Amino acid sequence: MEPTNSRRPSRGQKPRPRNLPNFDANEGRRAPARDPLPTGPFADMGIDHRINANVAAMGLTKPTPIQDEAIPAVVKGRDVLGLAQTGTGKTAAFGLPMLTRLINFGKKPDPKTCRALILAPTRELATQIATNIDAYAEGTPIRSFRVVGGASINVQTERLSRGVDVLIATPGRLMDLIERRAISLEATTYLVLDEADQMLDIGFIHTLRKIARMLPKDRQTLLFSATMPKLMEELADTYLTDPVRVAVNPPGQAAKKIEQGVHFVTQGDKATLLAEYLSKHPGELAMVFGRTKHGSEKLAKLLEKWGFAVAAIHGNKSQGQRERALDAFRKGQTQVLVATDVAARGLDIPEVAHVYNYDLPNVPENYVHRIGRTARAGRDGRAVAFCAPAEVGELRAIEKAMKAAIPVIGGEPPVGPVPSARPQGGRGPGMGKPMGAGGNKRPARRPSRAPKSRQA
Ligand code: AMP
Repeated sequence: MEPTNSRRPSRGQKPRPRNLPNFDANEGRRAPARDPLPTGPFADMGIDHRINANVAAMGLTKPTPIQDEAIPAVVKGRDVLGLAQTGTGKTAAFGLPMLTRLINFGKKPDPKTCRALILAPTRELATQIATNIDAYAEGTPIRSFRVVGGASINVQTERLSRGVDVLIATPGRLMDLIERRAISLEATTYLVLDEADQMLDIGFIHTLRKIARMLPKDRQTLLFSATMPKLMEELADTYLTDPVRVAVNPPGQAAKKIEQGVHFVTQGDKATLLAEYLSKHPGELAMVFGRTKHGSEKLAKLLEKWGFAVAAIHGNKSQGQRERALDAFRKGQTQVLVATDVAARGLDIPEVAHVYNYDLPNVPENYVHRIGRTARAGRDGRAVAFCAPAEVGELRAIEKAMKAAIPVIGGEPPVGPVPSARPQGGRGPGMGKPMGAGGNKRPARRPSRAPKSRQA
């Protein structure tokens, strides 16, 4: 799809003239490039040759659709409104031109400032972005730094005192650091809001409005979001000037490689059913999504008791615990990761072969995000939704949002009137409540234990 200009410049204004460093590969460069030959998948898009070499070495051979559309617009200095989910290659879409711009700018950041700021909703996504940015920028003078809650603010303050090229932050921690005068945004001319709709869902709207007022007017802003609720339109208007709109995978539609199914089951039998599914795929990574922190923790403990190598990740875990759990899962040391929606977006672990919606989400879009944790990097994936009689309303809401029915692969759809979907944020009959009779019983067919080497 061709990028289309927004019909309506923000707030009815004309695009502001920009005073941004341009993309001429030789502009402002302190030392001539050692290898100016344009090679690599993004060479003809004006991306720095060292970055190109790095992404080629990472196995990126040709731009993804979002990269094809967004990079030329970013290179021209335009603001971008990207409707795209994680998994589409959007980190490179904003990261590669941003790094090229910073390299070309040539100057070091002043103390307590950052040239580029990337805001992400969760610590996990911030970490993943930082890892990617560092890999793209290897061998260049550009340095990035990640600031998230749960880590020492003093260490972060100390590092920021030297200034940083690229700051990757969650909004809450960034505000804390700004209030402590550890960082100022006065020199930030490149801004990325990633997974902006999730930042709104988490309740960062006020923080984001405050941050908007602290940024220089003369800057380039890229906003990525998987969905475009009303509040997002308002936020986009605040942040963007005459943005180029790019969209891949329209919101609400799941990627095609995911084989989906729904299994009707009573709430009390869900744990046993899950154990049976997991046992059928020993050694394959699975993510299990629950509604509440408490319920997820309880389910993880139960699965552990039954012999699965399992970890849990949710808002009650410390940053260290969350990182350790993810690391073990990434390395395949644990087979099952039980998570709340804190992990529904952004996580990019190509080996995840199965997603189980143990509790159906009451925000239908979250279903799409959750199942998007599988079928990544060209692989296949399977997503099974466990639907209890009280969750049929949620199921129908998800199907409506996706404009497609999810095939029934087990159990019997309950007869009678469909219960309405629970209000957003409400506690449903899911894992937050004690499991019903039988919820704690061992599976009828005991799951074969995970191989010893994969146990936690
Ligand atoms: P993202 O949407 O940025 O989270 O990217 C999802 C995954 O796609 C990551 O594992 C990237 O390394 C990978 N990726 C990004 N760009 C490309 C590309 N052009 N070709 C192949 N894989 C890519």
